[in-house]
Amino acid sequence: MAKRLLTAFYGGTFDPIHNGHLQPVIALAKLVNLKRVIILPNKIPLHRKQPQATPNQRLMMTRLAIADTQCELFIIDERELHSPKPSLTVETFKSIRREYGPIAPIGLIIGQDSLLTLPQWHRSQELLELCHIIVCTRPCYQHYSSSYLWIENRLTNDPTAMCYQPAGLVYCAATPALAISASEIRWRLHAILPCCDLLTPSVQGYILEQGLYR
Ligand code: ATP
Repeated sequence: MAKRLLTAFYGGTFDPIHNGHLQPVIALAKLVNLKRVIILPNKIPLHRKQPQATPNQRLMMTRLAIADTQCELFIIDERELHSPKPSLTVETFKSIRREYGPIAPIGLIIGQDSLLTLPQWHRSQELLELCHIIVCTRPCYQHYSSSYLWIENRLTNDPTAMCYQPAGLVYCAATPALAISASEIRWRLHAILPCCDLLTPSVQGYILEQGLYR
């Protein structure tokens, strides 16, 4: 198969979007030569507690964060936010695959913590037939490589391999490990502690203005 451009999606709750989401992916884009990363905020996540901010507030924060990065890398796909149904990644990627066609390389960016839970995601094997999985380093989750046995035959050390096939590979990227999580940020905001290095300036301003996470 010929080499083709890899399109990468970045799914999440983004409650709120933070520097631990943005900076590793900016580094990843350089490593893997991604021209675009499509942020895919979910509306009603199935595998976790429901978000505190509304879908619209999370969308607004994502837009503001993208503007703050001042790079052309990110765009937003709002399809899950507009869906009346709970967000099922496999269904979302079925619809993405229909749009991009059967041969376009498509990737889903996740953090190392999500790679650990991936086997429990709904129809995770089918998801791997629809996209590649691109994993960003996340502190405290680096030493679980034995849990990756189920994807052993899919792991690649060569990111360009993902450009030669539409789906099915798992690439673990050496991105900067940032100990930032949305739950810690929500906790800090509730405790009225500063989050200056954790959020972009406009997202911080929006959270204050909307009185979020108090
Ligand atoms: P919460 O703390 O509420 O669980 P979160 O910070 O993990 O939230 P999500 O929106 O749930 O954020 O995550 C979306 C994706 O981003 C997931 O695949 C997650 O692994 C990844 N991610 C989040 N924070 C980081 C980080 N600091 N480094 C690398 N990946 C991250």
